[in-house]
Amino acid sequence: MVAEQLRPHGVTDERVLQAMASVPREEFLAPRMRSHAYEDRALAIECGQTISQPLVVALMAQAASLQPDEIALEVGTGSGYAAAILSRLCRRVMTIEREPALAEHALETLRRLGFDNIEVAVGDGSLGWPAEAPYNVILVAAAAREVPQALIDQLADGGRMVIPVATSDDEPQDLRLYARHGADVIYRSLFPVLFVPLRTG
Ligand code: SAH
Repeated sequence: MVAEQLRPHGVTDERVLQAMASVPREEFLAPRMRSHAYEDRALAIECGQTISQPLVVALMAQAASLQPDEIALEVGTGSGYAAAILSRLCRRVMTIEREPALAEHALETLRRLGFDNIEVAVGDGSLGWPAEAPYNVILVAAAAREVPQALIDQLADGGRMVIPVATSDDEPQDLRLYARHGADVIYRSLFPVLFVPLRTG
């Protein structure tokens, strides 16, 4: 994965590469999907959702430039795979999933593999998780129609947010990197992506 899928496609951050090398993706998949774990694509998990493509997880983590003493919020736990990667790059990860079955399964997987700096919550992640805010990094693993104000509000000064945005169904999703500097929040587009929709409410 590291040599063939990540390094040649722009992942240069050694901490990210090390995290990707150390988390067994197959453990986050159902047994019938495990033989596909090292193909560089999104794969089906329960509840009609997907585990993200490794390259996209790595590029999102790299763009966020997580530091060892920082805390991160992930919206869209899914299988728990991306949360596991993030947890290797920072102090603590809070991840939120709206499907209780996925959250429960992800937590079980993460605990079985010994990840102890990740907390999984069930709820609408477009509202963030105010109890633990502010976050140095927010990663959103589902495409939003517009960037939820609650997430911007929960970004720490100096914080970064990576989020796919598509204002309509016909438009390609634009992966954006937001950065907060005091009261100013600016963004730049990274690259087009394809995520499941962020379902609010
Ligand atoms: N990061 C995951 C991939 C997630 S796919 C992984 O590594 O496996 C996107 C996930 O976002 C799905 O599980 C979906 O149920 C969840 N989701 C969609 N809208 C949400 C919302 N408003 N709040 C929390 N989770 C949401």
